[in-house]
Amino acid sequence: MLSVKNLHKEYENQPLLRGVSFDVQQGETICLLGRSGSGKSTILRIIAGIEAPESGDVFWNNQNLKDVPVHKRKFGFMFQDYALFPHKNVFENVAFGLKMQNLPVDFVEEKVNSVLAKVKMQEFRHRQVADLSGGEQQRVALARALAPEPRLLMLDEPLGALDRNLREKLMDELRLLLHESNIPAIYVTHDQEEAFTIGDRLVLLNEGQIIQNASPEDIYQTPKNAWVAQFIGLSNLLEGVIQSTQPLMVSTRIGDFTINTGLPQNAKLEDPVILLLRPDALSMTDSNLNQFQAQVLDDVFLGNQWRVKIRMSDLEFSFLVDQPIRIGSMIKISIDPNQINLLQDEK
Ligand code: ADP
Ligand code: MG
Repeated sequence: MLSVKNLHKEYENQPLLRGVSFDVQQGETICLLGRSGSGKSTILRIIAGIEAPESGDVFWNNQNLKDVPVHKRKFGFMFQDYALFPHKNVFENVAFGLKMQNLPVDFVEEKVNSVLAKVKMQEFRHRQVADLSGGEQQRVALARALAPEPRLLMLDEPLGALDRNLREKLMDELRLLLHESNIPAIYVTHDQEEAFTIGDRLVLLNEGQIIQNASPEDIYQTPKNAWVAQFIGLSNLLEGVIQSTQPLMVSTRIGDFTINTGLPQNAKLEDPVILLLRPDALSMTDSNLNQFQAQVLDDVFLGNQWRVKIRMSDLEFSFLVDQPIRIGSMIKISIDPNQINLLQDEK
């Protein structure tokens, strides 16, 4: 379907994109995830044809789109601010693009009604957009993007402007609507929770390059490097050096760790590595492996678990545990060797 190959882009001699490549398959929603300013919107503009890259290409079913103008690409766009016409009604907003194409009135009427039904807004068709709630406006914006039957839908931080409660509700709605529509979609966000909820696949952008491109499960289970781990909220990171490979042991400031999850590719003895201690790694059972002294700094009840913050040596870590622990106490903990990922430092 869509294939983006080796995009390079710079602004004022500053490289922004440094070889960005990824694909989108039929019916798939990918989330392009990266910090604010990382170049996500620029990638969408290049795909839409609004902006040209310094080098690199965009293909649709193996056809290079270099000479295909914006309106012939048949890609739909939904923006953060929705860009609706506030003083037109719902029907007119959704019909706008179709009327621009001089399509027959009956056809437009039928198309708009069917797409409004899809987003469950047909009863609101005569309402002024300015009188709708944020969630309803979002559905109108989505209907407008879907009405011309785009072969690809691009959504640029569509929930960015909304408050948290509404965002969570709309995230679930959007995910369902995108899957039901079966149109391939690129959903851009800087919010990892949103990306995990909506994406069939996550494409992670940092410093102008795609750092990891995989399912949400894979990214969570095996983040490729420390940046990815931190970005998705896995922040228990610890520097170490490989001390032996069989068994796998790593020495750190806190002490020596035994690890069962395997060596990163090409890693060898004495290489520097980063240990990712997963949130469930901690237990207070006695063990002769990975046992350390820790001081409890904080303990927060989350509903079915507690999040405990501890200090080991001069470093702080957070874990999820099944029982409350007294703040201030010194405890003996063990770190499960199966719940530690070894990451390679790429710097
Ligand atoms: P994101 O969507 O990830 O927040 P953008 O693609 O909007 O990032 O922009 C990334 C950076 O590129 C911005 O911080 C800005 O400095 C620069 N940039 C984007 N568009 C232009 C432009 N037309 N002219 C100059 N610089 C630009
Ligand atoms: Mg942007």
